[in-house]
Amino acid sequence: MLTSRSMNKFDPIQAFADLRHEFGEHGGVNMSVEESTTFTVLDPGTMPEIFQGHLGPDVGGCYLYGRHFNPTVYVLGRQIAAYEGAEAGYCTASGMAAISAVVTQLCDTGDHVVASRTVYGGTFALLHDYLPVKAGITTSFVDVSDLAAVERAFTPLTRVLYCETMSNPTLRIADLPALAAIAHRHGAMLVVDNTFAPLIVAPIQHGADVVVHSLTKFMNGASDHIAGAVCGDTSFIMKLMDLHTGSLMLLGPTMDPQVAFDISLRLPHLGLRMAEHSRRALEIATRLAECGMHVTYPGLPTHPDHELLERLANPDFGYGGLLTVDLGTRERAFDFMGRLQNDHRFGLMAVSLGYSETLMSCSAASTSSEMPAEELEKAGIQPGLVRLSLGYTGTLEQRWAQLRSVLEAMGLTKPRPAGVAQLPG
Ligand code: PLP
Repeated sequence: MLTSRSMNKFDPIQAFADLRHEFGEHGGVNMSVEESTTFTVLDPGTMPEIFQGHLGPDVGGCYLYGRHFNPTVYVLGRQIAAYEGAEAGYCTASGMAAISAVVTQLCDTGDHVVASRTVYGGTFALLHDYLPVKAGITTSFVDVSDLAAVERAFTPLTRVLYCETMSNPTLRIADLPALAAIAHRHGAMLVVDNTFAPLIVAPIQHGADVVVHSLTKFMNGASDHIAGAVCGDTSFIMKLMDLHTGSLMLLGPTMDPQVAFDISLRLPHLGLRMAEHSRRALEIATRLAECGMHVTYPGLPTHPDHELLERLANPDFGYGGLLTVDLGTRERAFDFMGRLQNDHRFGLMAVSLGYSETLMSCSAASTSSEMPAEELEKAGIQPGLVRLSLGYTGTLEQRWAQLRSVLEAMGLTKPRPAGVAQLPG
């Protein structure tokens, strides 16, 4: 029987494999790193043609200057775009650089954004605090699960509808086809941050116009580089790089080519990593739920958006590597994380996600602390909410035993009803 997942036609793994393989200068299996900041031309007449946009990386293979296109960064951009099923992509020095470049490209002073109220704290601060003051771009925050509220928030000046595929840290799933329809009806663009769900969902396949990424997370997977990417149609990427009006060209959040090279080496095993992050997260979330913990994970049938994610997701990559557990209070959340790290080496207390080790943070006290208390409450980010990015080191049973010991030590496991099988570990 076809599941709703297997009916999704786009296959990111196939799209990635269909890309041309980039060999190194001397036939190396890995591409060379182009470290030059400037590029020569054979004919003096070529340079004005590049400046006027008549020649470029895809027209004549012409490069100009490292803050404009760089060949190594351009290859990485194509690879990310392939995974997203996008026409084009380019990379940035950080995820925030990608987000701010996209919003400032699409909005002029006086324009308006409708954004999900549960977005990464830095994105919230950019839209809520920085852009209104520095650029006169205002944002209305709404619960994007309430489509009528989204529709009502639009004004004639709304240019962007902004959301995360899987919200940070509440793990709600955005109904991308419905949101795209609303945005397009109002002549706006749907911009989606897909940092939490690479390969799992390809937002452009569901109507999004632009996808942004913090490559810092799952995409790179090694927690050693800060990086970002923008994917969309070719004309949008070219606008970002325009020498006179492009946010990426003029604000200059340029990715280092060595970083692009490193990330491109890790992309071929992104699929294997995502599948394992997801497998571990589903198993741990299921067991935590069985212990009576307040766990949120989109792979659990009890999650309010489980069916929606089933509809949007590509096969084979599960429901993602993130789950949250609500410990009730900040003190208990700190106690829980402290014991997991210091008594059992279960994971590390650190922000970020998508690493080989499990990372744990109390969102309200860290990555969402830019949000005022009433916004945290409206977004459902409780003071005792712990976000876990499940890693894949150690065995699953070893990790479960560590977690279970902490639950027991804190008196958090509920007594098992008679006849229910004992969980392993
Ligand atoms: N988007 C999401 C969903 C994030 O979680 C983060 C960072 O945590 C960012 C964007 C920003 O990315 P970066 O730290 O690479 O600038």
